[in-house]
Amino acid sequence: MKITAAPVLVTGAAGFVASHIVRELLARGYRVRGTVRSLAKDKDLAPLRALPGAAERLELVEADLLGASAFDGPAAGCEYVLHTASPYALDVKDPQKDLVDPAVNGTVNVLAACRRAGTVKRVVLTSSMAAITDEPDSDRVLTEADWNERSTLERNPYYLSKTLAEKAAWRFVESERPGFDLVVVNPFLVIGPSIGPGLNTSNQLFVDLLAGTYPGVMNLTWGFVDVRDVALAHVAAMETAGAKGRYICAGDTIAMRPLVEVLERSGWGEGRKLPRLGMDCAAGDFAVRLSSYLQPKGVGSYLRTHVGRVPCYDTAKIQGELGIRFRPVETSVLETLDDLARWGHVTARPA
Ligand code: NAP
Repeated sequence: MKITAAPVLVTGAAGFVASHIVRELLARGYRVRGTVRSLAKDKDLAPLRALPGAAERLELVEADLLGASAFDGPAAGCEYVLHTASPYALDVKDPQKDLVDPAVNGTVNVLAACRRAGTVKRVVLTSSMAAITDEPDSDRVLTEADWNERSTLERNPYYLSKTLAEKAAWRFVESERPGFDLVVVNPFLVIGPSIGPGLNTSNQLFVDLLAGTYPGVMNLTWGFVDVRDVALAHVAAMETAGAKGRYICAGDTIAMRPLVEVLERSGWGEGRKLPRLGMDCAAGDFAVRLSSYLQPKGVGSYLRTHVGRVPCYDTAKIQGELGIRFRPVETSVLETLDDLARWGHVTARPA
């Protein structure tokens, strides 16, 4: 049952995650107001406008995270706000300007606009596992009580931007008592089919795997979560009256070796350059660490902080309180690949 007749505000509506949130909200009968940076990008916005229910119930408006009062208009009259917009890139020219400023100032700008609106009851913020850790410890189970204390502008700056943005959001509600509550979703690496034509940074992993970008099978393990499950988590965080605090949002982990095996088994290896050389051993880890210094800074620090580590996390809170169940990782992976082919990011799998 719908919990509001007012439009639900979704920031960064054309993004990979947000567009699935928009689709889920429309499917449940909500009116949606989505912000985009530019309404002129017709090609990027067409898939959003074509979603079932969009013609009648989706309104798109312009807003940039860096504009102090840019969200005043969009937030006006809304009761629920899902703040998803934030730059997502591992490597940028100027980490402060390109990642931290829009993430942190943008979050505060959105929350301040919500307070000024005077109608908002709850804000759901898309944070990240990046705000939980940037160097998972293989023998320690991460929970919502964990915070990433290690990232800097030099080391995993995207992780820093997400940590500082989430901290700023909690500080805002504690110090300003704005009259709405804050619920935070912390997804791991989001994969899955895309509503729009763009290639998301996380799905780029599969394009790189097929294209031979990886010199060998490395000792890397990812926590994946399907974008459709992330969207369900956001809507559940909005609709569940008792939702509170942070929610780790992640499905299963999978290491590069079994991932490559899934791709081989299902025909995605044919005529591609899937990694074959076994580097998932101590000598391989050493080689990856060494060669990471030749990579762009953001990729290099990611490799050094993740090689040889298996993330372990507890998803009991999101499963118990929000009722989220995660799709099997193999299903998501294969559906992601088919979708990448549909959009032309990889060539289709031989029949
Ligand atoms: P995405 O497709 O790149 O979406 C990012 C969105 O942020 C885009 O809609 C973009 O708007 C908007 N944005 C960036 N800078 C902006 C600015 N200055 N002003 C206004 N909007 C701005 O990436 P995504 O994966 O969907 O990410 C969405 C959220 O999920 C982010 O908060 C990200 O940190 C979080 N997250 C993602 C993952 C993942 O693996 N994908 C994992 C955990 C958390 P434009 O369309 O105008 O570019």
